Amino acid sequence: MKTARIKNSSQHYQIGKIVCVGRNYAEHAKELGNEIPEKPVLFLKPPSAVIYSGEEVTHPAFSNDLHHEVELVLFVGEDIKNASRDEAENAIMGYGVGLDMTLRDVQQQLKKKGYPWTLAKCFDTSAVISDFILKQHHQLNLNEKIELKVNEEVRQSDTLSSMILKPAELVEYISSVMKLEKGDLIFTGTPSGVSKVNKGDKLKASLGELVNIICTIN
Ligand code: MG
Repeated sequence: MKTARIKNSSQHYQIGKIVCVGRNYAEHAKELGNEIPEKPVLFLKPPSAVIYSGEEVTHPAFSNDLHHEVELVLFVGEDIKNASRDEAENAIMGYGVGLDMTLRDVQQQLKKKGYPWTLAKCFDTSAVISDFILKQHHQLNLNEKIELKVNEEVRQSDTLSSMILKPAELVEYISSVMKLEKGDLIFTGTPSGVSKVNKGDKLKASLGELVNIICTIN
């Protein structure tokens, strides 16, 4: 069982489902040639895909184009369904940074055929997560910087204010589609600058000074 770990604490919670949002930054939608959708694009990752900072992403042999997507990750702290905006905000218990590792070549093939993205998004080690900082210790103001470096070179850098739908809006929407339960994680979409990584590359993802991830590609 994978757990979400709370920063500076021995607390940890079993991870339920992982809901991921696509195309939530206009510049990223544009760089992949996608339209900005009227409703958020949602997909799921299995909890078994989770690894933590300090571990290695395993490059699947069936892809030649593994991409990093750095994202704000929400930790859901209570069970909710059809939440109001306020209920949605209150259900967010903490924040982390995550890497939605994506097989871009596989995803493009699946998109062409109209197939689900499972093969491109759900491989083992495809969900890298940091520790989570509790909202009681830091309330996001969306001026926080989200950044991803590969071998010390900045590839993605933006502030959370560039998100099209903000955290509570996403939770409100997702809870209208499916029940959210304590322990669920929400990957909130990636800013522009996604790019290919290779075996041996060292990735560093950060959400301001709050939380970070260091991992290598193997
Ligand atoms: Mg993503």
